[in-house]
Formats: sequence, C-alpha cells, structure tokens
Amino acid sequence: MTVTLDDLPLRDDLRGQKPYGAPQAPLPIALNVNENTHPIPPDVADDIAESVAKAVAGLNRYPDREFTELREAFASYLGHGIEPEQVWAANGSNEVLQHLLQAFAGPGRTAFGFAPTYSMYSLLVRGVGSEWIAGTRGPRFEVTADDAARQVRDADPDVVFLCAPNNPTGTPLSIDVIESVYEASRGIVIVDEAYFEFAPDDATSALALLPGRERLVVSRTMSKAFAFAGARVGYLAADPAVIDALRLVRLPYHLSAVTQAAATAALRHSDEMLRTVDDIIVQRDRISATLEALGYDPYPSWSNFVLFGGVDDPHETWRRLYDRGVLVREIGIPGHLRVSAGTADETTTFLDALASIRDA
Ligand code: PMP
Repeated sequence: MTVTLDDLPLRDDLRGQKPYGAPQAPLPIALNVNENTHPIPPDVADDIAESVAKAVAGLNRYPDREFTELREAFASYLGHGIEPEQVWAANGSNEVLQHLLQAFAGPGRTAFGFAPTYSMYSLLVRGVGSEWIAGTRGPRFEVTADDAARQVRDADPDVVFLCAPNNPTGTPLSIDVIESVYEASRGIVIVDEAYFEFAPDDATSALALLPGRERLVVSRTMSKAFAFAGARVGYLAADPAVIDALRLVRLPYHLSAVTQAAATAALRHSDEMLRTVDDIIVQRDRISATLEALGYDPYPSWSNFVLFGGVDDPHETWRRLYDRGVLVREIGIPGHLRVSAGTADETTTFLDALASIRDA
C-alpha cells in the first residue's frame, strides 16, 4: 500500500498545500526560473575554487558562526554607508526571508504582500504557521503609494513583503510606495530587491531609506545578477537590532565554510561577476520589443525576465516551446507566460520558436 500525506500525522495547517513547483526539465534552453544563464568567467571560477580548496582543509572545524569576512564584503558591495553589523546572510534569500518570518511572524501572526507576487512568500509564511494576506495591484500590476498605504492599514500585518521589482510581473516599485507603506504599518517591512541590479542606473534602492527606519529590511541575493544561484547565498541589510533578532532563530553555523569561502571569493570579483548584467538587459528589452511586434502584450520590466499577456492558451504555448527545447514559466496568471532573458543565442532561439508557434 502506498503511504500518502493523509496517512501521516502532518500539521493540520499544511494539509492540502502544494510545494514550490517550478518544473525541472533537462532542456537545452532553460528560461523558467530567472537564473543568470551566463556561466561564471573561468578566471573567477579558478579563484573561487582555490578559496574553497583552502576551506576544505579546515572542514574538521565548524565555520565562523558570524561569517565576519562575508558580512564585511557584502557591506562594502552595498555601499550606502552600510556597516557589517547591519548585514545578515543565509543559504539563498529564501532562507533570509524564512529567518525574518521566524523572528517576526509565527503562529497567530500575519504577513501581507501585493499579489501576484513571488510564490515563495505565501509558502514561507504558512511554513512558520502565520496567515498570508494577499493585497491587490492595479490593472498593469502597478502599486501606488496611497492605495498601498490604505491596504496595509486595513490589513494591519506583522510583516509586509514589497518585491521591488516584482516577480513574476517585473513591475518597478517606486521609493514613495515604500515610504508610505512603512508609515502605514507597525510591522517589519521587507523590500525584496532580488533583481535590483537589473533596474536602470538611476533607480533608487530602498537601502537609501534605512537610516532611522528600524523596521525596514532590504533583502538581496547572489542568485540573479551574480550568476551564483547554485551556491545558495542571499543577504540583507537592516538595523543591527534586526540582525540580533535573526540570531535567535538561525541554526548555529547555518552558512557552511564552503559557502562562506565561495561567496567571499566571488565578491572579490564583483565587477566581473556582474559584467553580464548589461547584456541581460539588452536581451530583456529585445524580448519585450519582439513580443510586442509578434502581437503579445509584454509588461515593463526592471528585472531579468519579461511577463507577457495575450497568450490564448498559455499551457499549449508552454508545451509547444517545450517541444522545441525551450523552457519558460506558466505562473498561473490567465493568458500570460513569463520568460527569463538568456544569452543572445538562447534569447534568439526562444523568440524564433515563439514566432514559429505564432505562425503555425
Ligand atoms: N526573491 C525573489 C523575488 C525571487 O524571485 C527569488 C528567486 N526566484 C528569491 C527571492 C529567492 O532567491 P534565492 O533563494 O536563490 O536567493
């Protein structure tokens, strides 16, 4: 007899839930999870490997629990006067967000976000026994300062997620929305800047708002612009008191010595690691322009992906692209698909495949 979840003494509040579900398929062109598809430059990879090799020799010992060197490296990368004691890191920004929820949400508490937004927020929220409250966006998925403040005041959540720019829509979030949500709330306000490096050069980061706002947190990741998704490294900046709160919930030594060595070495080469960003932006804008020419409805994007509407049957289009070796993402918005910007060649393959489907 096959055992199912129903046969297990599972928590009642997890019954009926679905796990994070981006399909994993070994297709030649994978543009479905917003990775940076450019490989790490060989000289940087060599330096990272050397640093990791040194760390391996010391793996008999637990790693630095405070990941001091890595926090210093993140503080200097972020600028804005951020000090190392304002920095936290974990195994992907997913774990950073989980630490925040463990400390500031939990049973009997609520967390709020403007839907549609990053699908892991609600899963992480339910995972700590909190209630997820979905707010709404405008017709083009935009969020305005007055409406956002009103929704947050009505919901009165313990934690607010602001995804800037938003996944899966790519929508930018202006700094006045962050300020007004902060004023309207009493809880922790998390600005998730996972894709910030793909925003225009003159875009303002929420890091600029940190001074004097002890409930504000700005989360980042090395998974996107840094092309380091496989290493699992995310980080945040906030008031040092927030960092103290996170120490209460993290597992001791949660960042392995191998991870710390790899991330610190990668940050030594941040200029080279980030060199692909400009090309990805070119490919993203080429995707938007070509989709429009094909009669689709792409949304403005400040990220490394494009959401587009005007897809009559998203699942059928997804399947036909799949048959042509191209993996994109069905994100559950009727009539829409999402595609990550790849290398120039990958992007061309995607656009040609889509055009051939459109013509068929
Ligand atoms: N935030 C957003 C908005 C994301 O899209 C993602 C990844 N898709 C993450 C956080 C998590 O990334 P990671 O755990 O790899 O840092």
